[in-house]
Amino acid sequence: MPHTVIESTPMRAQAAFDVAKLRKDFPILSREVHGKSLIYLDNAATSQTPQQVIDVFSEYYSRYNANIHRGLHTLADEATAAFEGTRHKVRAFLNAEDARQVIFTRGTTEAINLVAQSWGRKNLAPGDEVLISMLEHHSNIVPWQLLAAEIGFTIKVIPVEESGALDMAAYSTLLSERTKLVAVNHVSNAFGTINPVQEMAALAHQHGALILVDGAQAAPHQVIDVQAIDADFYAFSGHKVYGPTGVGVLYGKQALLEAMPPWQGGGEMIKTVSFDVGTSFAAIPHKFEAGTPAIAEVIALGRALEWVESVGINAIGAWEGQLLDHATQAVGRIDGLRILGTAPQKAGVLSFVVEGAHSQDIGLLIDQLGVAIRTGHHCAQPLLAHFGVDATCRASFAAYNTLEEVDRFIEALQRVIGMVR
Ligand SMILES: *Cc1c(COP(=O)(O)O)cnc(C)c1O
Repeated sequence: MPHTVIESTPMRAQAAFDVAKLRKDFPILSREVHGKSLIYLDNAATSQTPQQVIDVFSEYYSRYNANIHRGLHTLADEATAAFEGTRHKVRAFLNAEDARQVIFTRGTTEAINLVAQSWGRKNLAPGDEVLISMLEHHSNIVPWQLLAAEIGFTIKVIPVEESGALDMAAYSTLLSERTKLVAVNHVSNAFGTINPVQEMAALAHQHGALILVDGAQAAPHQVIDVQAIDADFYAFSGHKVYGPTGVGVLYGKQALLEAMPPWQGGGEMIKTVSFDVGTSFAAIPHKFEAGTPAIAEVIALGRALEWVESVGINAIGAWEGQLLDHATQAVGRIDGLRILGTAPQKAGVLSFVVEGAHSQDIGLLIDQLGVAIRTGHHCAQPLLAHFGVDATCRASFAAYNTLEEVDRFIEALQRVIGMVR
């Protein structure tokens, strides 16, 4: 039986985990959909937002809206302090060495594109290899394809086993002195597989390669320690960790970031600009933050991380593990239902197909019963194609989901399957 593995078994945290209480922080959870109370199980696409985070927007725009880093007035000082405050919270959240290694982006996608366009463009050449995995999200595939088409390096793909776990023997074989970068997700959004990124980083480094970890699905569910992983780059998105859309993070090792050229030019990222002697660039992190950033969103991300900390990330991961186990057992009793992704180490993602029923029909009909799940390719078309399907249904869990919601989801699923078969 696949289930989430949390490092320390937080028995005390579980006893203290008060889902009814924390649900009250999420106004959206009390709305209805088609006359039924909403059951939101599409958390791997985006998580819902607690009131504490929503409040940041009205506070910011009604109290201290100002551009950052350049004003000398009170509002600019307050906005800058709040914005930079988030950088320090992210540093702690990732256990990064220094806050200057935290670069704000629009999300995971932009963070990966930054690495491709800045580090990749400078360091990759024909004959070099970039290893990605079969489990990747399109946002960790396409930036490398775009760059490879220009530069002419080779992309190699780490295969998966039948369970959806990465084939680590094949990974070892693929690594060579030609490998310059390994780019893998920490947790698969399509199957929930947790990848052994620490072990993968050690192997990559033995071959002189760097590792970029796409942490979009890991950040909401488990402790992230970029130093323990020894990640060269680590990316995540605000909107999947109870924060707003429009903001994400790239972490990088200091020496790497310092050696990388800027990738976008504009205000904020310069030291001096001159037509005669050229332009010199700001130090990290500002070198990579051209233009006015998403100020309120960054501040709100800080509030979201505070919310996560107040609940406890280990407690959240353990609770989601219970939800996943419960759901996995229940769907296992449904005739003709096949779970995709049964790796021993899984986060709260349940992907499945049902014999004789199109995933899209299931998604549309179950929405009529108030249940939001994802249907489609989950931005992982190569993975689904490998497993011989073009779409799955995916239920994914967050801190605020309950065992009763899982039961209602299963009931609704059984009704819907009865209708379409
Ligand atoms: C969601 C997701 C992304 C892309 O994140 P954006 O917020 O859309 O930039 C990348 N990788 C994984 C594993 C994801 O789940």
